[in-house]
Amino acid sequence: MICLGIEGTAHTIGIGIVEKSGSKCNILANVSRMYKPEKGGIHPREAANHHVKHFPKILLESIEKADINIKDIDLIAFSIGPGLGPCLRTAATAARVLSLMLKKPIIGVNHCIAHLEIGRALTGCIDPVLLYVSGGNTQVIAFMEGKYRVFGETLDIGIGNCLDKFGREVGLPFPAGPEIEKIARKGKKYLSLPYSVKGMDVAFSGILTACLHLVKKEKLEDICYSLQETCFSMLAEVAERAMAHTEKDEILLGGGVACNKRLQEIIRIMATERKARFFCPPNEFLVDNGAMIAWTGLLMHESGMKMKLEETKVRQNYRTDEVEITWR
Ligand code: AMP
Ligand code: MG
Repeated sequence: MICLGIEGTAHTIGIGIVEKSGSKCNILANVSRMYKPEKGGIHPREAANHHVKHFPKILLESIEKADINIKDIDLIAFSIGPGLGPCLRTAATAARVLSLMLKKPIIGVNHCIAHLEIGRALTGCIDPVLLYVSGGNTQVIAFMEGKYRVFGETLDIGIGNCLDKFGREVGLPFPAGPEIEKIARKGKKYLSLPYSVKGMDVAFSGILTACLHLVKKEKLEDICYSLQETCFSMLAEVAERAMAHTEKDEILLGGGVACNKRLQEIIRIMATERKARFFCPPNEFLVDNGAMIAWTGLLMHESGMKMKLEETKVRQNYRTDEVEITWR
């Protein structure tokens, strides 16, 4: 069975074409375009306009890459939430049109769960704790008693948002995460920052403010280094505590910030120390992508889930633990 999945929750419009044969996940195509604001943060309507503009091109590109006929597609999946309203509605509208034109079923996928499912499919982990670290989201998610549950999350901004906002203030291009990673490698001095773990949750806005205060006094490389070390240690702490509570021995990374090699190293060390296994899919599947939506759509569809067109209204605040899990 072949599914075309559309991702469009925030800055990225992506299309993935994925084939499921038995339990095997065969990625036929995975193309995307990222909206990069010239200045300031993401403007939801401008991001949506970007998605409208690029959708036709990436649709053709994905079908060409997959080397299929559009009629070979059996299912249309799209990111139904959580995310920015205008972006979600753009992806949903495109999905509805394709579903009607091709006369194929449509299914709306929870974006956060899609990060977890593509990780399971591509890395071979079975029942992991997912550390999901992206621009807008920061969550620790695991499967427990029939549902994906959130064991910890950010109380304010996402970790990626924290990095991007800091980068913007010091003149780094968007997205700033990769630039900060490069600069941090040269850092030597650890500057004390407000380490904010509250129970199972984390907070980043205090650290951001503290870093901005340091800009005039300290070297940028030391600030970037300290910012990464502090935030990533906090994430390792809550991820480890979730593993201990759930008694799971696999940790999986997801989200764009997980491309960071230092974060990968810290989480890998934590896993090794507690005799757990560490998993991380390739970067292309860490960032927002259409393949994860297509794959999760296939899992949902094959387990018997169906959605009528009138049930495909987007859900901006769709919570991970609201999703009915029929495929596990
Ligand atoms: P996503 O929202 O999952 O597509 O991921 C985008 C976020 O990942 C942005 O906030 C980026 O700054 C961040 N990001 C991407 N690569 C890296 C990296 N190497 N280190 C830290 N953050 C990164
Ligand atoms: Mg994401």
